[in-house]
Amino acid sequence: MKYSKLFGKTIKEAPKDELAVNAKLLIQAGFIRKEAAGVYNFLPLGLRVLNKISNIIREEMNNSGGQELLLVSLQRKESWEKTGRWNSFDALFKIKSRYDLEYALGPTHEEVLVPLVNNFVNSYRDLPLKLYQIQNKFRDEARSKAGLLRGREFLMKDLYSFHESEEDLMKYYTLMKKIYKKTFLRLGLSAIETVASGGTFSDFSHEYQVVCESGEDEIIYCPGGDFSQNAEIAKVKEGKECDLGHGPLKRVKTIEVGNIFLLKDKFSKAFGLTFKDKNGKEKYAVMGCYGIGISRVMGTIVEVCNDKKGIVWPEQVAPFRAHLLTVNNSQLTINRANEVYEKLQKAGVDVLYDDREDVSAGQKFADADLIGIPIRLVVSEKTPDEKIEWKQRNKQKAEVVALSEAVKRVEKESLV
Ligand code: ATP
Ligand code: MG
Repeated sequence: MKYSKLFGKTIKEAPKDELAVNAKLLIQAGFIRKEAAGVYNFLPLGLRVLNKISNIIREEMNNSGGQELLLVSLQRKESWEKTGRWNSFDALFKIKSRYDLEYALGPTHEEVLVPLVNNFVNSYRDLPLKLYQIQNKFRDEARSKAGLLRGREFLMKDLYSFHESEEDLMKYYTLMKKIYKKTFLRLGLSAIETVASGGTFSDFSHEYQVVCESGEDEIIYCPGGDFSQNAEIAKVKEGKECDLGHGPLKRVKTIEVGNIFLLKDKFSKAFGLTFKDKNGKEKYAVMGCYGIGISRVMGTIVEVCNDKKGIVWPEQVAPFRAHLLTVNNSQLTINRANEVYEKLQKAGVDVLYDDREDVSAGQKFADADLIGIPIRLVVSEKTPDEKIEWKQRNKQKAEVVALSEAVKRVEKESLV
């Protein structure tokens, strides 16, 4: 992609009306634009990141046996009344049509999926089912000042599992704990599995919490990695010695990037979702629910992966792998840069080529740091023929390497 053609450019200063680091950096670097409080448009650069995150999550959900579908955002009021949530779900957006019909604008999808599944489940042979979607959710959040961390419209992955017994549900729940750990690692986040209260349906749930000063949650955890509880429910106090001798427990601020919990038969009962078991006895299906805030993950990555100059994307989710630029506009330099660009494209490398001729080299370097693509490649007259400057966004030193070697390294090298 040529930067001169890219829709959505960097801007000189971070927007003054944004408090959160993720919103400041993502807007300044040209990834997103604010529409209203908690509502953001994703520009081409931003959508690339969101898609990379979504695809990693999609692969892992498929690995867990999940099947992807896409449910509606306009949801029937009657279904929300059936579960009693039309009046009790605080953040529910309610829409009135000109024909005096009312809808909920989907903040979560039990009210749609459970009646839908009910059409297809009759016998134990139809279970288990693991269904998920990646879709925008709508919530009338009280405060939306944290950029992508708390949207009123935001992208979520929500998976719902349906089982014939609690035993089978727990087996899948345990598998999902493993899958979640792996997913967050692949996304470049170290997320701490944290025990939290289970709300009304169960004694516990698990949250995936990323340590970050700007987070709205707090956990009490053992840095040795064997214990973490949401501070809201925790009985233990900060400073208590860990039972396994890892030293004192710590209290830190965190961002919840995902959570999993048991719904058991709460929604099956509301919608009469039953099946015939092996003995022909009618039983309620039991359910679990597994969420990841995809746009919140993107905001979280920016909150934890940045420096004074801008964003430092983990390579797995970066919008492009390499950022190519020239330091002057001599014909020789431009010809060589064009050649490098073609070679990289032929090799199948996602490269952003800053081909602008009307901005200074200093500006191009500053923009490259702000945008945060993992590898920066510079063509100049100083680098001898067939050589190119290579620098990783997460390292200080630049090096001069042969062009052929650079292409190979861009293709293959792990940049951790
Ligand atoms: P929170 O306590 O932060 O409001 P929640 O308990 O309401 O989260 P869920 O309804 O379980 O969250 O949603 C699943 C995931 O979706 C959360 O773990 C979080 O990562 C993400 N999420 C929830 N609300 C928002 C929001 N307003 N903006 C962005 N992501 C969100
Ligand atoms: Mg919430």
